[in-house]
Amino acid sequence: MPARLPVVRVKPGRDRSLRHRHPWLFSGAIAAVEGEPASGATVEVRAADGDLLALAAWSPASQIRARVWSFAPTSIDASFIALRLRRAIAARAGMLDARHSGMRIVHGESDGLPGVVADRYADVVVVQLLSAGAEAWRDAIVDALADATPARAIVERSDADVRALEGLAPRVAVARGTLPDPVVFRENGIDYAVDVLAGQKTGFYLDQRDNRRIVGDHAAGRQVLNAFCYSGGFTLACLAGGATRVVSVDSSAPALALGRANLARNPALDASRAQWLEADVFAELRRLRDADASFDLIVLDPPKFAPTAHHAERAARAYKDINLLALKLLAPRGYLATFSCSGGIGPELFQKIVAGAAQDARADAAIVGRFTASADHPVALAFPEGEYLKGLLVRKA
Ligand code: SAH
Repeated sequence: MPARLPVVRVKPGRDRSLRHRHPWLFSGAIAAVEGEPASGATVEVRAADGDLLALAAWSPASQIRARVWSFAPTSIDASFIALRLRRAIAARAGMLDARHSGMRIVHGESDGLPGVVADRYADVVVVQLLSAGAEAWRDAIVDALADATPARAIVERSDADVRALEGLAPRVAVARGTLPDPVVFRENGIDYAVDVLAGQKTGFYLDQRDNRRIVGDHAAGRQVLNAFCYSGGFTLACLAGGATRVVSVDSSAPALALGRANLARNPALDASRAQWLEADVFAELRRLRDADASFDLIVLDPPKFAPTAHHAERAARAYKDINLLALKLLAPRGYLATFSCSGGIGPELFQKIVAGAAQDARADAAIVGRFTASADHPVALAFPEGEYLKGLLVRKA
């Protein structure tokens, strides 16, 4: 145990969540700071009675003032980081095979590495450092990723908005190796190119892998509307599943260009069934409704409308709006696959919103399936905040 780490003392009665191994210490729970920890430095977190609760990374700019590396006494150093990273990768053994060459290999807090996210696309690894602690250990993290994976290139995509809350500037760079062009990986037997430098997040929404397969399995003989399609993940899954037609809508022209290129990359999928539309989904759903359009399978996978519970009310209205319109556009016996990736909207609230939408749409509908993120996006039981993606498969009577 290093002797001279700064000490952060927790207010009496505010140590419960840490004792339950929740990895965040909020600023309001801090009684005193002894020493002058730099951003990202390791601090000892101690209870009012002096008990060592955790070793954590100091985030002076954030309301989440410290993020726990370890609840047990140990040295937080490069080999600690490498060990955690290897543990995360080992936990995913067997998740890649001939049909899948991409997965999340590090999922932040739920893998014991707060603020660290890493996705693998075939032999390219994309890492996001989202907290002051992750930033402080940047070199160790990149070295450990290079050691523990067969990566021929490691890209840093530390440009997520949450970095601003940690007082960190954005950084995008090829940290190691040479990037293949294009970066291509396989999901459910379909090839996708990924724009790892400028695409959304790390380039692809890997969390929807299992859900794309399930939705694709419901697509045979159906006319599909894929709203918020990004680079065509659900579009290609539905075409592979035998959809007769897929209309894909997104407001981002680069996303649609990626979608088209991805479809062209998979000649077996008969691209004549696909139509790509650059439009605002809220407006396009209304236009389709006014044109009396109808679909047998609709996918709604919007961006995060509510990053925190604080935004939940406005977000709830947006979710209800699109679900109501989708349920109106849905033909009898049609399926709606509807998602929310908002941390601020829990599964129960989301179900209530969709139920309210069905009521207002006068649609008789039932839940026939529930979606979560795939297994490479684990949710630590002590960290329920990790469960952000939820979805419902709804069947209209
Ligand atoms: N379903 C996608 C991921 C969707 S991410 C997949 O499987 O990969 C959300 C997408 O919504 C982004 O591509 C973003 O460009 C798009 N988007 C955000 N707001 C929009 C709006 N109002 N209308 C249309 N698209 C929008």
